[in-house]
Amino acid sequence: MLIENVYIAPVAGPEIESGYIRIEGDRIAELGAGPAPGVPDGTARIDGTGCLATPGLVNTHHHLYQWASQGLAQDATLFEWLTALYQVWAAMDAEVVHGAATAGLGWLALSGCTTSSDHHYVFPKGRGDLLAAEIEAAREVGIRFHPARGSMDRGQSQGGLPPDVVVEELDDILTATAEAVDAYHDPSFSSMLRVAVAPCSPFSASAALMTESAALARAKGVRLHTHIAETMDEDEHCVKQFGLRPVDYMEQLGWLGPDVWFAHTVHLSDGDIGKLAATGTGSAHCPSSNGRLGAGIARVSEMLRRGANVGLGVDGSASSELTPLAGEMRQALLFQRARYGPDALTARQALELATLGGARNLGRAGELGSIEPGKLADLALWRVDGPFTAAVADPVCALVFGPPPPLARVLVGGRSVVEDGELRTVAQDEAGRAGVAARQRLLRLAEERGFTAAKEVHPET
Ligand SMILES: [Zn+2]
Repeated sequence: MLIENVYIAPVAGPEIESGYIRIEGDRIAELGAGPAPGVPDGTARIDGTGCLATPGLVNTHHHLYQWASQGLAQDATLFEWLTALYQVWAAMDAEVVHGAATAGLGWLALSGCTTSSDHHYVFPKGRGDLLAAEIEAAREVGIRFHPARGSMDRGQSQGGLPPDVVVEELDDILTATAEAVDAYHDPSFSSMLRVAVAPCSPFSASAALMTESAALARAKGVRLHTHIAETMDEDEHCVKQFGLRPVDYMEQLGWLGPDVWFAHTVHLSDGDIGKLAATGTGSAHCPSSNGRLGAGIARVSEMLRRGANVGLGVDGSASSELTPLAGEMRQALLFQRARYGPDALTARQALELATLGGARNLGRAGELGSIEPGKLADLALWRVDGPFTAAVADPVCALVFGPPPPLARVLVGGRSVVEDGELRTVAQDEAGRAGVAARQRLLRLAEERGFTAAKEVHPET
């Protein structure tokens, strides 16, 4: 396959104003300026005139099931929001998760995402195989998937935040997590699916779960993920319960290292940033969610300057309703500039966060995140020649500073997942309807358990 006449922003290496990208199998074979030399007969050609080619975007923090609980607890802090929604989530089952994940992953693909992680940490008893349900949805939508088998074992009776009804026993968690890695994790170069180990947060997972999870992940050779330093409430909780701030607590538990990436890392000291940089610990920056919950603005430009890796995440849909991954580049750029000034983050840096930064978080910088020969052919072709978009002089500026432009193509390993702005792997309308049905089902199941979601978590109604 050959993409021609296209503006290429490879992220690694110089940009090409008009050039070509040649794909062989699922990999990028070569790229260059001008027309491609010596193209064999029968090569499929995509005319990229008027398009910007970037690496496919990489989403490094999400909770897909939350697609079914969007629009609730609209004006709450993180702890208020969680406390309201745990009761709703306790009712979810495999059908809810499959519908929510189909809509959520379809939506991500429609914003240029070719690889997404998902942090699923609510496993109510007897509700079916929730992890298998989201994995099935990812296979159908056709983007690379890195589900993190999440967990909570520290319910309210143990001093944690979640009600006991949504937590699991430590031994059950470790067994299920090991089984998930054995069943699904594919470490190969072209892998469409890798599993990570992901206790939820310091206020919902015990120290034993954290250390045992780290030991399990390292024994299996998979990555570790959790939420850290999202809000000042969490900071205070950690100091009170453990005598340590969140990053110091993680360090004590053996949770800093190049195989770890954290969600949020909003409230960091200078020393915390130094520890993340020195240990190669990554961060998933989720600016829309941080804004929605009033959590604060992460010190991303300082983290980058000091050599800490940062990728982007949309976070769960219930705290970042309908957030497109491409839009997080803009949100990150504007947040950093609002905090630090207009040179805090450039359009190119924001694009790198969304691509190579994300690939590093997931341990896949060798395969993903930039347009280079030998890497996987995961690409987004943005149409920047529309009658309005074309008024912006620089296509990368048009992509990052403005609302996301339409997508001509999204390729995953050379396969079209989106074409002319529409999903091609699944029926787009059906994917959307699956998300609506998931919401209706979840709220009905919650009501059957005696919890009226609309009344409890949306006070205006
Ligand atoms: Zn999250």
